[in-house]
Amino acid sequence: MERYAAHALEAMATGLLRAAGCGAEEAALVAAHLVGANLAGHDSHGVGMLPAYVDHLRRGLYVADRTPEVVRDAGAVIVVDAQRGMGQHMARRALDHGLARAKEQGACVVALRESAHVGRIGAYAEYCAAHGLASAHFVNVVDHAPIVAPFGGGDARFVTNPFCAALPDPDGAGALLDMATSTIALGKARVAHNRGEPVPDGALLDRDGRPTSDPEALVERHEGALTAFGGHKGSGLAVICELFAGALSGGRTSQPEHARHGSILNNMVSVLMDPDAFGDAAAIAHEARAFGAYVKASPAAPGVDAVCLPGDPETASRRERAARGVPVEPRTLEQIREAAVAVGLAAADIDRWLGG
Ligand code: NAD
Repeated sequence: MERYAAHALEAMATGLLRAAGCGAEEAALVAAHLVGANLAGHDSHGVGMLPAYVDHLRRGLYVADRTPEVVRDAGAVIVVDAQRGMGQHMARRALDHGLARAKEQGACVVALRESAHVGRIGAYAEYCAAHGLASAHFVNVVDHAPIVAPFGGGDARFVTNPFCAALPDPDGAGALLDMATSTIALGKARVAHNRGEPVPDGALLDRDGRPTSDPEALVERHEGALTAFGGHKGSGLAVICELFAGALSGGRTSQPEHARHGSILNNMVSVLMDPDAFGDAAAIAHEARAFGAYVKASPAAPGVDAVCLPGDPETASRRERAARGVPVEPRTLEQIREAAVAVGLAAADIDRWLGG
């Protein structure tokens, strides 16, 4: 598989988003986020999302260059309506309202609703951490048919509702948990199908609610469902993400009173916390580092190289991909070229930006 330098992928993504209607600042911000997801190893949330973004922009399901509106400001709670604006831009602007407030008050909750796909949630915990804040983010996904079954259920009732939380370390990355609440991401089922491989046992149900490891029906015909991770506990966390992000925010959940237009919208409730307000930030950082070292010193189980903290695999991927480039599947590039042609570019423009 061909590898591309991050700056070439960013130039390509920026050019495509500009042609699809985004202003220069928005296009650059979304492009940097997508390539950041690729660098972190999450190709399901990288430049492979561009064809869907372009399609949704063309169909009016996403709106370029929106100014997100603060619809409520209750001091400790700020509610921001993105009105289908580009997610990475909207989420950044919404968090910007909360950063200063969290510093002033010790904590602030920002609820972003009706946003286009916000991408890799870890990027927002990193953004908060770069401002010295710990954060937790509850996200749901709407405007899209459900694809994840609740524990014990036989069909899908919600989407892959990610949860993310991080405690910043002033001298390093700190621990950052960022995960879908489905056993595997939908993108991973698609990759398995394209390679003719089964998905792991327990990850998928067929259209009759029976376990299957064959992703064909889900990927080709949207039949069946992914399972929530971790049995009743993971399914419960997915429900809480849906309720916090979809109900508390004043946005919407996946319940059927709401029309679905086939795009991917996110609602996100973010809790921003200033360690200084809790006590001695240096002591907190020491405690977190000592705990992390203690966890990582656990002897590795057979077949495991080393014990990691959440966030370590992304750090390792960044190091490797920054040095060797980001692998992009030919099928993904083909879809990006098709999206380029749909917005009046030539397929060759994509290759030119990629340096081909
Ligand atoms: P994943 O399963 O690869 O990783 C989940 C978490 O586990 C990460 O924090 C990772 O650091 C940690 N981890 C992985 N391997 C580990 C190991 N061996 N030891 C210790 N920790 C380990 O991630 P995922 O659930 O497939 O999610 C992928 C991405 O998809 C995330 O960035 C998420 O935000 C994103 N996502 C976004 C949406 C959306 O609607 N915007 C929806 C779902 C998922």
